[in-house]
Amino acid sequence: MAEEKLPTRSENYSEWYNQLIQRAEMADYAPVRGCMVVRPYGWALWENMQQNLDKRFKETGHVNAAFPLLIPKSFLEKEKEHVEGFAPELAIVTIGGGQELEEPLVIRPTSETVIGYMYSKWIKSYRDLPVLINQWANVVRWEMRTRLFLRTLEFYWQEGHTAHATQKEAEEETLRMLDVYADFAEKEAAVPVIRGRKSATERFAGAKETYSIEAMMGDTRALQAGTSHFLGQNFAKAFDIQYLDLNNQLQHVWTTSWGLSTRFVGAIIMAHGDDQGLVLPPRLAPYQVVLIPIYKNDEERSKVMPVVEKLKAELSGFRLKVDDRSEVTPGFKFNDWELRGVPLRIEVGPKDVEKGTFAMARRDIPGRDGKSFVPQVNAARTVGDMLDQIQTGIFQKAVDFRKAHVFDPKSYDELKEVLQGGWAYSWWCGDAACEAKVKEDTKATTRNIPLDQEGGSGKCIVCGKPASEKVYFARAY
Ligand SMILES: [Zn+2]
Repeated sequence: MAEEKLPTRSENYSEWYNQLIQRAEMADYAPVRGCMVVRPYGWALWENMQQNLDKRFKETGHVNAAFPLLIPKSFLEKEKEHVEGFAPELAIVTIGGGQELEEPLVIRPTSETVIGYMYSKWIKSYRDLPVLINQWANVVRWEMRTRLFLRTLEFYWQEGHTAHATQKEAEEETLRMLDVYADFAEKEAAVPVIRGRKSATERFAGAKETYSIEAMMGDTRALQAGTSHFLGQNFAKAFDIQYLDLNNQLQHVWTTSWGLSTRFVGAIIMAHGDDQGLVLPPRLAPYQVVLIPIYKNDEERSKVMPVVEKLKAELSGFRLKVDDRSEVTPGFKFNDWELRGVPLRIEVGPKDVEKGTFAMARRDIPGRDGKSFVPQVNAARTVGDMLDQIQTGIFQKAVDFRKAHVFDPKSYDELKEVLQGGWAYSWWCGDAACEAKVKEDTKATTRNIPLDQEGGSGKCIVCGKPASEKVYFARAY
């Protein structure tokens, strides 16, 4: 498992990523090409993410429900842009119970259509609004090029779908959920993100506006880590979702949808991981602390274990794992938990028992600098403080890394150059032709137009025409 060394990130970033996921037992390849098995350690991380997000959704007034996996194919055809966007990625069921179906069924790639259909039955009056529903589900998109967590045929996510009486309310909801994602990413996952608006080219199929959070990975590529869509009245009109307003007039509702998926697990791996393996944020890590007893013989063991038991009880408020496997050496255990990214390692040996101390080793600072010896008294407070420091430390490290790899090129040639190893933050006129040229020349796309703009105006980095907004260009996953 941990005997062979991982390829380093500079040697081969994508091999580092693929091997790390399998060796850390996060996920494995399924028999069907492009599908993924999420193993218990990976699922435990996803569960912590789910619980945290679910709490945030409920705090902002949403409730959960479950909609069907199978959707009549004709539903997708009701919204023109939606079907054009998703048609190439659809998996379609044509036979059921041994018989050819009268109407083929689509395995949901996303659920705007079936939820829109149901909303048209449920929403009758302004009193029924807003409808604020989320579902936790799996979806299928027939991707050609796949990577574990980042892009798989089937993936897990949540999709929120809301309906509102007014445009203003729906727009507010769209941005509110973008903020929920951004806050989750930064506070829980310690991944700094840019909140912004997608260009028309990069918009969700059928949306009026798409907003995203974009994160920088350890190889400087960008990853779209969550999206929130203002759908206008597109789906309301396609599915005839109408309500009677206060004046007894029929009106179409305004809808939104927003999603965050297991792709975000890939973001955590790539934003924080190092050449030794995963570095998981304490607030989401399946195990926050691993406790390793150190002894050479039974006599030492009998001294060490009571202290281990006492510490275990004292640290019961943390997600803690005691690794007392006898068939492997402490050194093996250190490497193993390092690879799996456990934020904090505690060691207790015979000397610690005598001195009333234990050793703590931070995952985010490898080697001696990250190691300290602390008293056993007040262990819970010491460990809690240390986990907070690690959480803040890895966030700051990611912020600094991004800062060091975002450039403000002065010319188009310089833009092409900086995009080889970073992001460009540049004026853009908004013309899709300029966006396409950059993609053609560099493979970089517009990531988003940040909500927090510094103001003023400038010249488009591509064509030189006047521009009123800046955009991030980057090569992306
Ligand atoms: Zn331009």
